[in-house]
Amino acid sequence: MSTLKAVRGTRDLLPPETELWNFVEETARRVFARYNFGEIRTPIFEDTGLFARGVGEETDIVSKEMYTWEDRARAQSEKSQSLTLRPENTAGVVRAYIEHKLGETGLLQKLYYIGPQFRRERPQKGRYRQFYQIGAEVIGPPSAGSESPLRDAEVLEMLATLLDELGIQGWKLVINSVGSSSDRPRYIAALREALRDKAPLMCVDCQRRAETNPLRVLDCKVPEDQPIIETLPKIADYLDEDSKAHFAAVCAALDACGVRYDVDPRLVRGLDYYTRTTFEFTHGGLGAQNALLGGGRYDGLSEALGGPKAPGIGFAMGEDRLILTLQAQAAQQSAPADAYLAPLGEAQNAAALGLARELRRAGLRIELGDGGFRLKKSFEIGNKLARKIILLGEDELKSGILTVKDFASGEQVKVAWAELATALRSR
Ligand code: AMP
Repeated sequence: MSTLKAVRGTRDLLPPETELWNFVEETARRVFARYNFGEIRTPIFEDTGLFARGVGEETDIVSKEMYTWEDRARAQSEKSQSLTLRPENTAGVVRAYIEHKLGETGLLQKLYYIGPQFRRERPQKGRYRQFYQIGAEVIGPPSAGSESPLRDAEVLEMLATLLDELGIQGWKLVINSVGSSSDRPRYIAALREALRDKAPLMCVDCQRRAETNPLRVLDCKVPEDQPIIETLPKIADYLDEDSKAHFAAVCAALDACGVRYDVDPRLVRGLDYYTRTTFEFTHGGLGAQNALLGGGRYDGLSEALGGPKAPGIGFAMGEDRLILTLQAQAAQQSAPADAYLAPLGEAQNAAALGLARELRRAGLRIELGDGGFRLKKSFEIGNKLARKIILLGEDELKSGILTVKDFASGEQVKVAWAELATALRSR
């Protein structure tokens, strides 16, 4: 019988890795608290219509990546219903905002979430079918200042702070404005017009996107298509005065607080609900899936879901990708231990612990083996964990002279017990 395995695109998180996950989540909670955000937990599955309306029928997520099923009625009073495992959390948060009438407080709602999301994508490094997002939303009635460019800049500044506190080195922020709900149709019409002649020269995906969702053409990564994309109309030329002023104010606020960014006119992002500011934080170490997080404004989302006018801005960070980045950084930084101390036989274990204590107290990083291991095994483990190996057998104990071998040079020397710490420090 074949053994059962975790489903493709899903995986188990085990110790010690889970420690890193907890560190990331605790850091996020601590930083969010300083900006006065509170936690929201929405259900993992929702009515399919929420995502169709909230994320957009034409998006890749809704058209081909959702885990959707027909949930049969259990009782006469119940109706069968199409349900979907959430592919993202913003639609759920905005549904909850509407359902609980949070807008009636008249205040901005600043909500964060941490949890799994589900998309049937082709798995690869940094891309899974069950993945984890840490995200936040700032949403409220216009009278609460929810449209202010200051909110956009504050969210971006918070993210820069969070990535720094997590110890992520070398992140980059790119921003753009995709315009208001009236700018976008004008731009999309111009894009469609330009693509009429050009799409037939592009890849098959772009030919399809030109019909279904022309904005997605700008995301194309196929090298041959890039020169054509460069010639397409730019959204910046289609922004009305309000959108331009809003974007300029976001940039000015970022400049004022010293958060560095690049403007990328092609950054439009995959979800239909974005308006005005969109952004991504990327990291070079991630390879093809280089986006650590993405987000933007969604001024019309609440109304699209049948709610009151409630402009908002939010983001979702890929927690899996944060972890990959931190692990890659740690692998680069973690030097091997100074020495692996191998007791030769269990009778030497106690003496070895004493020697390890002495060396550690002298400030050395020591990995202590076990006298139950064969010599070959001690060498193998030692070579993985340390620069040198110290052999401590019965003879060594009696004579007080130990054998130390350097893994890199292969050199083996005899060292008196009292001089061991000095010898280990020398390279
Ligand atoms: P999105 O909800 O598509 O805007 O994605 C926001 C962030 O979630 C991305 O920048 C990624 O870091 C992460 N993300 C999205 N899809 C996946 C996936 N399939 N696997 C892992 N992380 C993902």
